[in-house]
Amino acid sequence: MRKVLLLGSTGSIGTSALKVTRDLPERMQIVGLAANSSVEALVEQVRETGVKQVALTDPAAAAKARALLPADVVLHTGAQGLIDLVNESDADMVLVAIVGTAGLAPALAAIERGMHLAVASKEILVMAGEAVTEAAKRKGVNILPVDSEHNAIFQCLEGHRHSDVQRILLTASGGPFRTLPADQLPHVTLAQALKHPTWTMGRKITIDSATLFNKGLEMIEAKWLFDVPMDKIEVVVHPQSIVHSMVEFADNSVIAQLSHSDMCFPIQYAVTWPDRVPNNLKPLNFAQVGALHFEAPRVADFPALNLARHAGTIGGTLPAVLNAANEVAVDAFLNGKIAFPGIWQTVERVMNAHQVIAHPNLDELIEADAWARRTAAV
Ligand code: NDP
Repeated sequence: MRKVLLLGSTGSIGTSALKVTRDLPERMQIVGLAANSSVEALVEQVRETGVKQVALTDPAAAAKARALLPADVVLHTGAQGLIDLVNESDADMVLVAIVGTAGLAPALAAIERGMHLAVASKEILVMAGEAVTEAAKRKGVNILPVDSEHNAIFQCLEGHRHSDVQRILLTASGGPFRTLPADQLPHVTLAQALKHPTWTMGRKITIDSATLFNKGLEMIEAKWLFDVPMDKIEVVVHPQSIVHSMVEFADNSVIAQLSHSDMCFPIQYAVTWPDRVPNNLKPLNFAQVGALHFEAPRVADFPALNLARHAGTIGGTLPAVLNAANEVAVDAFLNGKIAFPGIWQTVERVMNAHQVIAHPNLDELIEADAWARRTAAV
């Protein structure tokens, strides 16, 4: 039985994690919940799970929730509230599913307390992959990837030697604009960008999937999780999202992991690893699936991939800058302030203006993140 503290419980990953808990009550117990401002959803989750420790980072939302929560439920608030929640929790695993980098401080606090991490929030590994993986190694803490691609790679690598890995092959759906001519990209609408062909996800990652920044962030995430250089990480477009990623070994053999596109699969494996546990998820019917297609990504039309490859190769503060500029630009696109190509144009401008620090400490990463947000907003 895993006792799990769920950060980002009201989001897409958070609600899938609760589904897994309902499916496997003998393997997974939720012992704490955190969100930003979704009061009603959090109160309902407290009622369902019976947890006694929660956090809402938004103070006004927390004040509203206090009146609705049972008196014996401890409610933390503010950014510090997430850290307090970790420090007061009896969880043995923290599932970080907060969009953006707000999950970094609680993730580091969890590692210091010796709690295992299940990480959905790729942004924290992009920003501070070195700090997070080093701290985890020092404390003997496992980092279990929840991102479907990295969970797949994790499964493909099991039982194999690291030195035998030739290439990591990250699959990408290609997003809603996979076949759209490049000259039409400046005219796409928000509604079109939010219509992902195969996955139902939160708004930020859905836009990241449309620009391919999601895959770019995943390349950097893979570098840290699996300790491989960027030139061994490749992207292959696979529109059906059935093959979640692959690993090619020294003998040119490739191992892949397949399932329907449902985040309950990777969330369950992160929680039950190394056990395989029967569930109520839908098995694959290959005759119905029919064909699996693969194609090369359009790197010239979707510059996010090359920007991320460059950031991951240079390292230092550059990935944190790419990530922060992207967050600001996605927000601007979601609010109708910039056109779709403005997202990668903003990221490129901010990356070009940045003076890279080669081996940053945590404070320098936080400063680079803040600088990139200010610069992107101009
Ligand atoms: P959503 O937008 O659906 O949910 C985000 C969650 O984070 C909500 O619970 C939200 O609370 C909470 N949150 C946001 N800001 C804060 C904050 N400052 N403090 C505390 N909680 C906060 O996102 P997703 O579930 O789609 O994605 C979460 C993460 O998982 C992202 O990093 C994404 O890249 C990654 N991921 C997601 C996948 C998916 O299928 N959705 C697949 C693979 C990775 P509130 O509701 O109150 O705003």
